[in-house]
Amino acid sequence: MPMSVDALESELRSPAGLAPRRLSICLINPRFEPSYFGNEYALALHPQDKRSYMITGALPALAGLVPDGHDVELLDENIEAIDFEALRRFDVVGVTGMIVQRGRLEQILLRLKPLPVIVAVGGPYISVEESFFDGLCDVRFIGEAETTWPMFLRDLAAGRPTLSRYEQQERTDMSTVPAPRYDLVNARHYMLAPLQVSRGCPFLCEFCDIIVIFGRKPRLKTPDQVIAELEAVRRAGFRSCFVVDDNFIGNKGQAKKLLPRITQWQKQHGYPLALSTEASINLGDDAELLELMVQANFHHVFVGIESPRSESLKETRKNQNLHGDSMADKLRRIRDAGLVVEGGFIVGFDNDDAAIFEEQFRFIQDNGIGLAVVSKLTPIPSTPLHARLKAEGRLDFSDPECLFLPRQMTREQLKQGHRDLVQRLASAENFFARLFKGYSESSEFRRHRAERAAQMPRPSRRQRLLSLAGALITSAKLARALSAEGMLRSLAPVYIRVYRGQRKQLGAEAMPLPSFVGLCALQWHQHRIAHRSVEHWGAALPRQADLAAAPTSSEHREAA
Ligand code: SF4
Repeated sequence: MPMSVDALESELRSPAGLAPRRLSICLINPRFEPSYFGNEYALALHPQDKRSYMITGALPALAGLVPDGHDVELLDENIEAIDFEALRRFDVVGVTGMIVQRGRLEQILLRLKPLPVIVAVGGPYISVEESFFDGLCDVRFIGEAETTWPMFLRDLAAGRPTLSRYEQQERTDMSTVPAPRYDLVNARHYMLAPLQVSRGCPFLCEFCDIIVIFGRKPRLKTPDQVIAELEAVRRAGFRSCFVVDDNFIGNKGQAKKLLPRITQWQKQHGYPLALSTEASINLGDDAELLELMVQANFHHVFVGIESPRSESLKETRKNQNLHGDSMADKLRRIRDAGLVVEGGFIVGFDNDDAAIFEEQFRFIQDNGIGLAVVSKLTPIPSTPLHARLKAEGRLDFSDPECLFLPRQMTREQLKQGHRDLVQRLASAENFFARLFKGYSESSEFRRHRAERAAQMPRPSRRQRLLSLAGALITSAKLARALSAEGMLRSLAPVYIRVYRGQRKQLGAEAMPLPSFVGLCALQWHQHRIAHRSVEHWGAALPRQADLAAAPTSSEHREAA
């Protein structure tokens, strides 16, 4: 028999004068559909049991906010199935989710409904579209939850009345946020750990909900907090970490103060964590910041480029991409400093006509952006873009693959142009051509890479053999996957030709076999995502900011 929340609360209520009751809490992240960022097809080729690219930061962060004296478990459906019957033993089941998870989120909430647990929902989707959750949960958390989530748990445990809706009024002071519970994360099944340094971004991009939820004034953790979290990530067994900030350089001065501390920590521990993040393109204007990031062991940076067309950038108020010299020059400087550039692109702006697809393709190829994520413009509720299109009568949800009426194209043209572009970019020839263009044309990048390798502890013979064995296992799995899809004869010769070509061209500076095999696996993943069946194109592709998995109920990452 389902139990009402009131009945549950009264059962949980501790007798007057006694210590608060010990709560048992489970935090769930619903399964994602295969996505560009999820790397599912590449993970399937990994020599170890990797099941998900990165845990959403919300789970360990929300666990970190649980007051002492309670039991908390994380359940990431991307690495393990949910046993709904087993959830009966918890007092509270918290579920987070993003827009792209809404289908699975709803299914999970419906399955939880009859269970004798209090169902709490937070996260980015409920924060922008609350009505979707009517009748699906007992308690909802809107926006950031550093104050409201522990307050709810304390009241519940003490037998005080609780609310069915919490919305934190003041923005979280990041310098007081407790450390996420990385100790609860099974690092064995993930490639990366998420770590958040700041929230908020000073820019004004029209399509972005980050600034709506987190504001335009970046709020940062202290360097001591960040170092403690890096240490916890290292102890949990991770070797790579994604700094999930909406814009890591939103406050350049603070970033410059933090980076030397990270460098010092990396040196002390033999550079245990390879770091990556996302940043606005003005990173390319700041040589000091670039150098500090490389010294701190940042390897990759994801940049919101959006469009090579100035009118489209102006329209969407991406003004930072228009300042100073060209975007190509800025990207070249970022790469020359030693960072791999990944880029986010959007098609469907009012200033985009049917020629935009070829322009985007040329820009991405010419600038050597190996990992390029191209999305269709998506009007996310609460954003200025959503409000404008609504006022213009151009919102139309009848087609899940395109939620608005484009100005200079039909919907069909936009959808088809986008699909064609994504498929062209994912072809092995184009993928490797642009990737090695960026790599071979930048001797500075290769020099930095060699210097970085020299400062790392030299791998032992055993480690080198293990790395080679891993590459061989991945190659064998890849060959099997290609064969199953009938593509072994067409794709394998391309991989071999590219590998030999770059060895011939770059000699000792050529990419080593294990790294190259990893890139083949990535290309395979991109190919599979680009050629997914038409019905799967309805899931919104992520925006640049969607990479940011803010580790609270406001986490933002959406999967492609
Ligand atoms: S898209 Fe990126 S740069 Fe633009 S406002 Fe959002 S977080 Fe800032």
